[in-house]
Amino acid sequence: MGREPSERVDVCVVGAGPAGALAASSLASDGHDVVVLEAGPRFDFESRQRRMEEAIRPGHHGSVWEMGGERDAFSATGEQYYPLNVARVKGVGGSTLHWQGMVMRLHPTDFDGGHGNDDPAWPIGYDDLRPYYADAERALGVAGDADNPFAPAREDPFPLPGFPPSHSDSLFAEACEALGITTHSVPNARNSEGYDGRSACVGYGTCQPVCPSGAKYDASVHIQDAEAAGARVVDRVPVQRLETDGDGRVSAAVYATPDGTEHRQAAREFVLAAGGVEIPRLLLLSRSAAHPDGLANASGLVGRYFMDHLFAGAGGTLDRETRQNHVGFITSECHQFYDDPGQAVERIETGETVVPSAGERLSPIKLEFLNYAGPSPVELALDADDWATRCWRTSEGTTAPASRWAAWSASRHAARTGSRSTPRPPTTTATPSPTSSGRSATGWRARSTGPPTSSTRCSTSWAWTSPGRSVPRTPARRTTTWGRPGWGPTPRRAS
Ligand SMILES: Cc1cc2nc3c(=O)[nH]c(=O)nc-3n(C[C@H](O)[C@H](O)[C@H](O)COP(=O)(O)OP(=O)(O)OC[C@H]3O[C@@H](n4cnc5c(N)ncnc54)[C@H](O)[C@@H]3O)c2cc1C
Ligand code: SF4
Repeated sequence: MGREPSERVDVCVVGAGPAGALAASSLASDGHDVVVLEAGPRFDFESRQRRMEEAIRPGHHGSVWEMGGERDAFSATGEQYYPLNVARVKGVGGSTLHWQGMVMRLHPTDFDGGHGNDDPAWPIGYDDLRPYYADAERALGVAGDADNPFAPAREDPFPLPGFPPSHSDSLFAEACEALGITTHSVPNARNSEGYDGRSACVGYGTCQPVCPSGAKYDASVHIQDAEAAGARVVDRVPVQRLETDGDGRVSAAVYATPDGTEHRQAAREFVLAAGGVEIPRLLLLSRSAAHPDGLANASGLVGRYFMDHLFAGAGGTLDRETRQNHVGFITSECHQFYDDPGQAVERIETGETVVPSAGERLSPIKLEFLNYAGPSPVELALDADDWATRCWRTSEGTTAPASRWAAWSASRHAARTGSRSTPRPPTTTATPSPTSSGRSATGWRARSTGPPTSSTRCSTSWAWTSPGRSVPRTPARRTTTWGRPGWGPTPRRAS
């Protein structure tokens, strides 16, 4: 079947990003007749290696997901330019094809208007969403540890053990500690070990814009599931507008095929999953005599008050190698200033006030340390004649060649515990803010009983091997289960 419409189905889903893919997979598994209409193309999984090679070439600045150009032409009239063309991916998988994959839960204060600023309370609270967060973490395969003393409460461990801190995150952890700032792991939608038929992370380091191994979750996974459960997914068919019946209910989605022909897909129910920009656009494009302001727009607010999370960046030059691009994702972050963003910060050793308590009301602040900044692995390799000879840090803090790691790894192989927890070295002596809410009891205890000595700090780093091969991690000085047997690429599940 080409791009002709199906006969009236139970559910028509517009958009094949994570929202559409998860909805389609769940509905199809429950026996509903589902059609997914996706504006962009279907990308061949086998093409990812080529896309990765394209992305790391020196001088490459375009999109590897065929975004931009006439198809995605748009104008931005606001004060701030919003680079929509390159920010989102149009295609089966949506923006998760090039997302970062950090998947923290919101804090209870995000819902209850408890930040003391103008943010209003939501009609639902964190506890309402808790079971759904857990479901989503299982579906995506989230790797994380219970070491965040500021995280909201959770019932179960993450489905996968967390990643240890990268080399560059360890450097930041050391600096943060001295300032009384706690760092901890990041919940990552990428496999720290094989999960759901997908490979463990093999360290290509190109997560943004493409993960060739499939270790980073993207929504094509659930499109595959939806199709296996009987859903029909049609690509390159942007929905132009929605039609309503006499009762004002949506009855059909009008979509265009690549040759410009319009078709009508009728359905009993519609799920709009076209993303935060295209959904309001589609509602406004669906104006009719009965709905002159577009659909669902009695308030006149559709398409207004678009909110993004604000990002403020600070850069600097370190007097030592940072090796960010050896690990293509963020492994450590800090929620210390999330529930209490105005708190003072004191230097641990001297008690000196580094940042005074803020007198104003602030919104939550989350600190991240970018592991994907800097030159690409190819640029680094072209620039250095010692690539792969100094790829890991020894317990003495010096660098050593990969071959020495291999010898160490072989001798350790038999001693691995197989435990699913990945201990991270304690990174701070700071006392978490008393106003932080919803701490995980387990995380709290683990943190306060760890020996906060400098000898345990910053002792983990990563090694890098050529793409497609398994990536050994150097051990922390303390016991670590990282590098479990079976580490390395596993076949992606069969379609
Ligand atoms: C660079 C980048 C990094 C990110 N990193 C993170 C992160 O680390 N953690 C995190 O939680 N989030 C992150 N995000 C955000 C996250 O990717 C999005 O919130 C998420 O993908 C939204 O899912 P969605 O299904 O609602 O929409 P999308 O992923 O945007 O998918 C919508 C789909 O609908 C299709 N579509 C649009 N209009 C139509 C139409 N008219 N007809 C048919 N189909 C249509 C699009 O082509 C697209 O495939 C990141 C986003 C970007 C761009
Ligand atoms: S480091 Fe590589 S294998 Fe791991 S998730 Fe990122 S792109 Fe995928």
